[in-house]
This record gives sequence, C-alpha cells and structure tokens, in this order.
Amino acid sequence: MCNKQLILAASLFLGFLLNFPSLSSAYNRADRRSFQRSIVDSRSRLNPGFKKVKRKKTQYIIVHTSELGLKTTLRVVLKGKRLRNGRTTQGGHTHYVIARNGRTYRILDKKFEADHAGLSMWNGETDISKISIGIELVGYHYAPISESQYRSLGKLIDILQGVYGLDDRAVLTHSQVAYGKRNRWFKKNHRGRKRCAKNFIRAKAELGPTWPYDPDVRSGQLLPDPQLAGVYYGRRGYYAKTEDANIISKRNTAWSIAGEDYDSRTTVYKFPGGQIYTGDQISDNVGWKRIPAKTVVLLNQENSVFLKKSDGPIKTISDSLTAWSFAGKAYNLKTTIYFLPSGGIKFGSTISDWDDLPAKTRLIVGYRGPFTLYKDRSAYRIAGSKYKDRKTLYYLPSKELVAGDKIEDFDRLPAGTLIFLPYT
Ligand SMILES: [Zn+2]
Repeated sequence: MCNKQLILAASLFLGFLLNFPSLSSAYNRADRRSFQRSIVDSRSRLNPGFKKVKRKKTQYIIVHTSELGLKTTLRVVLKGKRLRNGRTTQGGHTHYVIARNGRTYRILDKKFEADHAGLSMWNGETDISKISIGIELVGYHYAPISESQYRSLGKLIDILQGVYGLDDRAVLTHSQVAYGKRNRWFKKNHRGRKRCAKNFIRAKAELGPTWPYDPDVRSGQLLPDPQLAGVYYGRRGYYAKTEDANIISKRNTAWSIAGEDYDSRTTVYKFPGGQIYTGDQISDNVGWKRIPAKTVVLLNQENSVFLKKSDGPIKTISDSLTAWSFAGKAYNLKTTIYFLPSGGIKFGSTISDWDDLPAKTRLIVGYRGPFTLYKDRSAYRIAGSKYKDRKTLYYLPSKELVAGDKIEDFDRLPAGTLIFLPYT
C-alpha cells in the first residue's frame, strides 16, 4: 500500500469515526427525536410544595419499578406519598414515569434533584438522589417489565447518557443502590431495603453489563442481601425468573419479597387457606417464622379492607390493585374472566395489559363459560349437581355476579343469565 492509499484509508476511517460518534448507541437521531416529542409533559401537575433544587452533578441513572398501577404511580410521584409516621411527602419522586404501553411522562425537569432513592449508597457515595436521574417503570418487581417499556426506556437512557456523558455502568437499579439500617434480619447496615427493579433485564434496554460486584459490600460498608447478590452478581440469567416471585417459599421470605415494607400496613399477606393479614398484623397474630409456604405477598395495598371483602372466587380491582396483583401470570389466560363496570365481559386472552382495566372491574380466575340460561336449559342442566356450589357463578342481566350458594330460587333466575363454571 503506497502512502497516498494509506492516507486515504486513514481519513476514511477517521471520517467513519466522526460521522458515527456513538458507535455503541443502538438508536439513531430520528428515533431519539420522535421519542422525545412523544413524552407527555406532566411537570405542571407537580405538587407546588415540592422544593426544586438544582443537581450539582449527575453520575447515575436509577431504574425503579413503581409497585403500583399507572394512575396511582402518577399520583404518588407528582403529589406525594404517605409515610409510616403519617406524614405526607411533597412529591417529586422521579424524573420520568414509563407506563406499561411505553408512554413516557416527564414529572420533573431533569436538572433538579428528585427524591427517589432514599437511604442509598454506591461506591462509597451516599444519598444517590442528589447525583442521579430517576426513572419509574409502572409495574412490580415480581412481574415482567413490558416490551414497550423496554423500548422507551432504552431510548430515554440513551438520550440521558448522551446529555451527561454516562456509560452503561452508570445505569443501576434502586434495589442495587438502596441500603437499610440494622433490623431483625441484619446486624449491620445492609443491602436489600428495596427490591425495586430487580427484574430489570439490561440487555432488553440495549445496555451492557453492570458492575460485576457490589463496591460497598466489597469495601465492608454494607452486608450483602443473599437474594439480591444472586440476582446481580451471581450466575447469569437468574433474574429473568419472576413468575412466583411474590409467593412465600423457603428461599423467598417476607423480607426477600417486600424488603423494608415487610411489616407495613400496606403489605398484604394472602395465606393459601384464604386468610388475609397486613404486614403490621403478622408479628402479633402469626409470627414471622410461621407464614405458610404459598402465601401471596402484595405490596402497596392501601385499600386492604376492600381486599378482605372480595375474598372468595370474585375479586375486585380498585385503582391500586391491578389484574396482575390478583391473577399473577394468569392475567392474560382465556380462563381469567373480567367483568367491566360498563357490563361488558373480557377474557384474559384479549387483555393486552393490566393497566387498561378500570377500577371496580371484577375478575374470576380459572373459569370456563359463559353458558347461557334460558327456558329449556336450566342451571341444573348446565352445571349438574354443582349448580348450588359457591364456586358456580351466575352473572345476572342486572350485572350482578352471584355465587350458586347465594341463590334462593333457581326457578326465578332470569333468562339470559350467564353461568361460569370452575375449570377443572
Ligand atoms: Zn424504587
């Protein structure tokens, strides 16, 4: 190769580098621009009592899962949340919220500090809220993050990395950076206070690997949380398993599911026998070591009285109880059936996501039907000897949903009543 060719080759290579400054980026300028235009600006709805303070430096991007549905997430991050001591915060709990359908909301201008990470530490630095951007994904740490959320999150992170000059290692989850003071489970300061976003699969947001170790555990500042250590620094792929992650087992304790909220009034324990306790009732009524296996743990259930009333085959969704809370991974099965407040019926297989369900939607899990009752087709002909069973459900034209054992006169059931039978 002569000199001229060499210079040509070198300048071509240089030109290549200059034209493509961010070779690692998976998104082009048009992607980023159209995403930015699609962000819903909610800054004007922020609690006026929130004090805006400019952030001095930006070292991290922290990903959270909100452990709530969309409406409640927006309310909490904008207006504030109730603390255990009864006080209410001033909102400003994140910079961005990403809904299940990928729609992204701007809550607070990114130049200000958001109150999102609480008691936190990373690589020796504490109070991570002061040096980071917060992103809330609507959903639970024990349910998969949606593909649409990953797509929006990837673009948002890519844009923020460009603005602040951050690499992929600067992107961490809240459960990675939160820490707690000593408690009944740990003798010293420790990881595991939060479980937030432990189901986050980095590659799905076009991100490379995270830290291969926890710097504050390595330096001896914090004790590790065994489960989180396995998720983040153990064998690959471990954290993809989310299906049964809010169900108590030997490995999955109240602590590993709820973190610091294990004994909170808003954490609900649904025992396999049907009994329901809130976190603050366990120690007096049951004892922390005696929670039975297969107990389902639900976080952020402000309305637990409602839950108690709806125990039985018919469940009702309040605004903070999504279909996922009740039906878990069965939320989109054909045998999970939803009764909308408008009177319509939807089968799980036609539900695209659990955010779209209006409050007061009722649902039943593990059912088949409907079988229509009319003059020559009685309840007995449809349900057999089980027609009076509490698990056989009747949906009356008046939109009432009634169990078989509550019906007094079967001859007076109106024609057009729909019967649903447990799927066995
Ligand atoms: Zn969080």
